[in-house]
Amino acid sequence: MTATPSDAAAACPPVGRLAPSPTGVLHIGNARSLLLAWLSARSRGGKVLLRVEDLIPGQPEFVISLLRDLRYLGLDWDAPPDCEGVCQVADFVDMDGDLPPFILQSERHRAYNRVLGRLADAGLVYPCVCTRREIEAAVRAPHAEDHGAAYPGTCRGRFVNMKTAIAFEASRAQRAGRKPVGVAMRLRVPDDPLVFVDQLHGTVTVSLPEDCGDFVIQRKDGAFAYMLAVVVDDLAMGVTEVVRGDDLLDCTGQQLALYQAIARHGVQTDLAAVVDRPPPDWVHVPLVYGDEGRRLAKRDRSLHVQTLQEMGVPGSAVRRWLAGSLGLPDSDDPAELAAHFSWAAMPRGPAVFGAAELAGLCDVPRSAAPS
Ligand code: GLU
Repeated sequence: MTATPSDAAAACPPVGRLAPSPTGVLHIGNARSLLLAWLSARSRGGKVLLRVEDLIPGQPEFVISLLRDLRYLGLDWDAPPDCEGVCQVADFVDMDGDLPPFILQSERHRAYNRVLGRLADAGLVYPCVCTRREIEAAVRAPHAEDHGAAYPGTCRGRFVNMKTAIAFEASRAQRAGRKPVGVAMRLRVPDDPLVFVDQLHGTVTVSLPEDCGDFVIQRKDGAFAYMLAVVVDDLAMGVTEVVRGDDLLDCTGQQLALYQAIARHGVQTDLAAVVDRPPPDWVHVPLVYGDEGRRLAKRDRSLHVQTLQEMGVPGSAVRRWLAGSLGLPDSDDPAELAAHFSWAAMPRGPAVFGAAELAGLCDVPRSAAPS
């Protein structure tokens, strides 16, 4: 089945989203992907929603720094629809202006659980007790070259229900003299190839049985996998366009399988109408690299948006650099950039932000430009 940008979606203004993870602070590469998501939606009169992807919660200081970074970059957002996980900015940080609410993944576990339960009822999800070592051994067995390849399906059809899987793990743990570690939940992937169209990468065909096999959507410790959360959230928020770094292109086939499973089995997430929604349009954008093609790492402090802010670089200067890297006019005004934005004109190669670019930004007269 092919997922292509739908006619309906083309006719309506898009609903885009900013979906940063508060696992560290934003770096310049994250900022560029977020700006692209913002420009793509705003350039067509669309909405932009904010979702903070703190699936494993517990670091509110990162949420605060994300909110500050977005304001510094001049990226605004709209109020989300009424669904679980809506949070007020003022509950985290005192910032100027009447800022719209945003979605926090750590507040949405009930929604994920509901979808997981329905998929399990429909027989599309099954419990898995395999350890990493068992999977590696099974995958390696006849074909050593396949190491790290797809899950071999050991637990597909192995247990009548969840209870028997839990009992199996409990007795195995007892025999080994350790505590039970719980069971994971895996989605049965379709046998046929999945096809989707990415705005920049064109038609992409994925064969999930060979790529990854049945994949985990809930871990043994009960944490929901990113794959499940992102699909459930985008459906609940009414997102019609996903713009993100091209390091996530490989995940999209799994997300499409989830969209199809949810749609086919009439699973409702938060809103009654979500089952009628097609998957979003996907655009996977080139990443930013450092000198010598080095991938930007979150630990490299000089590339953090927060560090630039602390060094006194105005947000407008960062926007201007980002705009230049996107082939846009020399402007720091988000609305003007949106007016000139088009995917067709965007440079396709990766952008470089190295020592020279950093020095250039730091040389910007501190008082000349408004932030
Ligand atoms: N939270 C992810 C990140 O910051 C993006 C996930 C997505 O856009 O689907 O890389």
